[in-house]
Amino acid sequence: MNETEQQGLVEKFAEDARERFEALYERMPSWEVPHPQPAFVELADRGWIRGTILDSGCGTGENALMLAARGLDVFGIDLVPTAIGWARSKAQARGVPAARFLVGDALRLDALGMSFDTIIDSGLFHAFGDVERALYVKSLEAVLKRGGEVHLLCWSDQQDGSDGPRRVSQAEIRAAFASGWTVREIVPSRFVNNTHPGGAKAWRASLRRELG
Ligand code: SAH
Repeated sequence: MNETEQQGLVEKFAEDARERFEALYERMPSWEVPHPQPAFVELADRGWIRGTILDSGCGTGENALMLAARGLDVFGIDLVPTAIGWARSKAQARGVPAARFLVGDALRLDALGMSFDTIIDSGLFHAFGDVERALYVKSLEAVLKRGGEVHLLCWSDQQDGSDGPRRVSQAEIRAAFASGWTVREIVPSRFVNNTHPGGAKAWRASLRRELG
């Protein structure tokens, strides 16, 4: 695939995803909960979320707001303006003006013109098909500093049923981040949402960028 073809593909993916997710945000999306994911609270407690932080596919911003409230330097991006609007209103209502929210495409993170020490992904990785997934990892590589880390939370293949997002195996995570990355940790976790109050079975993966 040459660069022009790749660009066209990324634009098409963005158009499709914007339409799909915009429709979901017209009502209360099933993943929308009024608190951060416990998996990211735990990582923040451990000090693993540091430096300049990007929340990729931040939705209405609960995880980014939790980090900003701790005094961390965080940007949230999402493809859907409605989600970013909600996130900004929450930041204002909760008195956390330091959280900055932007409409942006996680497949084109280079367009932000920034670089990050830490990127968190709560429920975006599992939304991508195979081709988007590969483009996403490239996009992360474009903005993550050497030694920087991605922490992602995705539904796991151990979750029963066929509702909700695509299930991801540990092997798929390792394969997606095979080149130029090391796996710091992949552990069973939970993705709390409205349909699985105790949380859907998930992987929390922490991946360090060795190049860049
Ligand atoms: N992180 C939030 C939202 C998870 S749902 C949470 O934990 O609650 C996945 C989010 O990714 C949605 O808000 C959707 O609009 C967003 N999204 C989907 N494709 C995207 C893309 N290409 N770039 C940025 N955001 C995207």
